[in-house]
Amino acid sequence: MKESYVDFAMIDFETALKEILDHAHPLPTTSVALSGSLGYVLAEEIRAREPVPLFDSSAVDGFAVRLEDVENASDENPIRLRVQGVIRAGDSAPVSSHRKRLIRLPLEKNCTIKILTGALIPEGADTVIMREFVEEHGDEIIVRRAVRQGENIRRQGEEFEKGNVVFSSDTLITPPVIGMLATLGYMRVRVHRKPRVALIMTGNELRSPLSRLRAGQIRDSNSFALLAAMRSIGIEPLSMVRTKDDKKVMKAAFSAALKRADVVISVGGVSVGDYDFVKEALVDLDVETVFWKVAMKPGKPNFFGVRGKKLIFGLPGNPVSALISFQLLVKPALQTMMGIVWHAPLSFKAVLGEQLKKKPGRLEFVRGVLSLNSEGELIVMPAIGQDSHMMGGLAKANCLVHFSKEKEYVSEGVPVIVTLLNWSNYEYSSR
Ligand code: AMP
Ligand code: MG
Repeated sequence: MKESYVDFAMIDFETALKEILDHAHPLPTTSVALSGSLGYVLAEEIRAREPVPLFDSSAVDGFAVRLEDVENASDENPIRLRVQGVIRAGDSAPVSSHRKRLIRLPLEKNCTIKILTGALIPEGADTVIMREFVEEHGDEIIVRRAVRQGENIRRQGEEFEKGNVVFSSDTLITPPVIGMLATLGYMRVRVHRKPRVALIMTGNELRSPLSRLRAGQIRDSNSFALLAAMRSIGIEPLSMVRTKDDKKVMKAAFSAALKRADVVISVGGVSVGDYDFVKEALVDLDVETVFWKVAMKPGKPNFFGVRGKKLIFGLPGNPVSALISFQLLVKPALQTMMGIVWHAPLSFKAVLGEQLKKKPGRLEFVRGVLSLNSEGELIVMPAIGQDSHMMGGLAKANCLVHFSKEKEYVSEGVPVIVTLLNWSNYEYSSR
């Protein structure tokens, strides 16, 4: 039996998000080279195979000493030490300054070895004095300052002992994570594969931005915006096609997309217009409807369906609606599939700088510009251009103001809930 439009009531935004997250699961794992792992999520726990740091080394340029020789140094009691030689980063042992001969260790009484940042602490030395704190006179230094035991030494294993867990298996691979993995000697890592995403733009009016437009035609901007939004979270879509508002053509496009993609995202044609065939085409292709209308603004007509493990999103065509729907509903699903443990974005209060009005019945995400006033308070102003087709307003915004579903009015000066607009995976979450 064919599903009819009236079967699907409008659901709340929170319910829609929960439905999506319930249907999205981390994808199978694969192994990637460390150099290509940026933006993936670890699917294995990473332990230190060696202590980090690997050996005791100097944190500064200075002189390696035995604490007992310099313990009582002060202006009244200057202490002289003989400089036996030098050890540099990468040297396995210190060498004498003149004849470049290896120095016998352990370090002798009242002697010191010049040491450079990152160099191995010579046996017998237990403290490093910064170069700035000694006087250098040829083969001698004079110390006039009390020294703490172990000063300026980076200890072997002080950050991680061998066997310690360094990263849990759901860690997003960022530049510092890559740096740490390289330190630990991991040249390949196990990660979740990224979702294969197919994009379908619907609409007779759409043209490539390169073409000459006839009256009534517009440039397809959504495909560019959505491609960029996906790249911002590390996903390179499989394909992008434009279709006419023709059920047969749309069906063929969805059918081809469903063969290869984990996630199909269409834009436009999902409302109740005479030429909005997306839902019918999907139902014909055995896509099970989860919801079709969400009580949010922008983004009311918003289809979400599943076929097996594949997720299908039918976003509304208005550019702001498409991008906000992507950000608030599609991105959490893609992130979950990538292995990111999804958390609600961090919300906080800011003082509204200008009154808000709307009809009750939908949660409105007002595009806002957040700034600090002279008293250091957070003030949020609605961006100019709040209609769903006004991309300029979204482009200027740095946050979304939550204008609750049943409210009709919020006056200036009242604290409101805002969420930062963040196009990346590096979520300021409420963890
Ligand atoms: P629809 O959801 O198909 O009813 O489209 C709603 C509005 O968004 C219409 O004004 C469309 O022309 C516009 N629109 C749909 N798709 C795109 C697109 N890919 N790029 C720019 N505007 C679009
Ligand atoms: Mg359309």
